[in-house]
Amino acid sequence: MPAVTADTLTLPRVAVPDPEHAAERPVRSVTTAPTGVEGEGFPVRRAFAGVSASALDPFIHMDQMGEVEYAPGEPKGTPWHPHRGFETVTYMIDGIFEHQDSNGGGGVITNGDTQWMTAGGGILHIERPPEHLVASGGLFHGIQLWVNLPRANKFAPPRYQDIRGKQATLLSSDDGGTLLRVIAGEVDGHTGPGSTFTPITLVHATLSPGARLRLPWNPGYNALAYILAGNGGVGDERRPIHKGQLAVFGPGDVLTLNADTAQPSAEPNLEVLLLGGRPIREPVVHYGPFVMNTKAEIIQAMEDYRAGRLGVIPAERLPHAHGDLPADG
Ligand code: MN
Repeated sequence: MPAVTADTLTLPRVAVPDPEHAAERPVRSVTTAPTGVEGEGFPVRRAFAGVSASALDPFIHMDQMGEVEYAPGEPKGTPWHPHRGFETVTYMIDGIFEHQDSNGGGGVITNGDTQWMTAGGGILHIERPPEHLVASGGLFHGIQLWVNLPRANKFAPPRYQDIRGKQATLLSSDDGGTLLRVIAGEVDGHTGPGSTFTPITLVHATLSPGARLRLPWNPGYNALAYILAGNGGVGDERRPIHKGQLAVFGPGDVLTLNADTAQPSAEPNLEVLLLGGRPIREPVVHYGPFVMNTKAEIIQAMEDYRAGRLGVIPAERLPHAHGDLPADG
């Protein structure tokens, strides 16, 4: 799991919340993500399955893509498809994903890079491994998160942001046992590079074996922890949690996680994606690639898609963002 790594001893440290004044967030649920397939058939875990929409708000959906070791010729992506009414956040941990959209946005993300796409009023896009990776096969592992847009921003102009892994704000827990990568939002006054219409915080935390993390968390946000790898516990009570499970926290100021001392040898740390956002608290009608406020708006989105009003597939293929990757023909 490469993502971006650093020596925690050299990083700014997050202050330990004062137990006298900081309320511990209780653990409301721990659920296990079922597996499925996406796009042209790549394996995913549906991270939010079985969790109520109100507990997830402002998040709609999250897939852990892979992790999968592809044989040569096997890597898969998605065909061109539309979106309206929300933003997609794709965080690549291992492997390479190419993106191209009908708004002229696009790029290549790898090893801890994030791409942020505001579908807004409408966009078409395609996501796929580059052809040299299809030819060679290899490891593929990432996250795609859907962040809802409030009614007032559902028809915002589409936008694309590329966030390199090294742009993430790197922090350490007070004891140096946890590396924190702030991709978006803010932790203890340290701000990450990603920007969304709906305020959120997105952090990839790596806890060393035996480490305990007590992290201040915006009390106006919800709080979710998804385990990418390893074994540990959530909350003060150290409720057991492992790879492929999601914890939903209740209200409070601080969330607590701990990594077991013994970890699988292939994945020696507890790897956690921490998510929180300000709930939008509006009606949500989610149908396929559209997330709107009413059923009538979904029907309108389907009509607009059929009429080509969400965008058209560009004639030009994706120009490679990095010169070190071979052209894909
Ligand atoms: Mn998509």
